[in-house]
Amino acid sequence: MSHLKEKILQDGVVLNESVLKVDSFLNHQIDPIVLKEIGKEFLEYFKEKEITKVMTIEASGIAPAILVATKLEVPMLFAKKSEPSTLENEDQYATNVHSYTKNVTSRVLVSKKYLSPDDKVLIIDDFLANGEAALGLINLVEQAGAEVAGVGICVEKSFQPGHQKLVDKGIDIFSIVRIASLENNEITFIEETE
Ligand code: 5GP
Repeated sequence: MSHLKEKILQDGVVLNESVLKVDSFLNHQIDPIVLKEIGKEFLEYFKEKEITKVMTIEASGIAPAILVATKLEVPMLFAKKSEPSTLENEDQYATNVHSYTKNVTSRVLVSKKYLSPDDKVLIIDDFLANGEAALGLINLVEQAGAEVAGVGICVEKSFQPGHQKLVDKGIDIFSIVRIASLENNEITFIEETE
């Protein structure tokens, strides 16, 4: 069993039947062993894809994304959820993303300087629920005329629509852990053989 799955079973908290809290090892405090394993799993799956950039959205995607980028030896770019004064005068790609956990819609942006049509971009995020964050990032990559090499997710809640939306777009998606249900305060996984 993967270390991430073990940690989820041991320390994950089912907040309700649609939200899993993993603050003690992934979203607030970060466990370096879990993070190392995440980097290794993504590298194994995506290493042949000639990736030139890893991309995520602030804040909780940054830790897993930087691990993968370090292993692939390519830059990591994170979309910002608000516009800092330092980006005010720069051309930007922007789109709206509705946050699953905060229930607010933000304009997320990246400077046009850091995405080019030659890029093959690997998108990484901590969770996949409705697919808003991943689709928003895909939209930014497409605006730049770059290619989405794939989407890597640490924890996919497979009972929510994000996975299917990405499959329908023809995206190569790899999730380290897939959760089938959080019903009755219990975490049920989709087993690897399925
Ligand atoms: P989506 O955009 O796919 O609807 O939701 C993914 C984003 O919402 C992730 O970036 C993640 O931060 C947050 N998220 C969605 N579901 C959960 C969850 O069950 N637990 C936690 N901790 N974050 C979640």
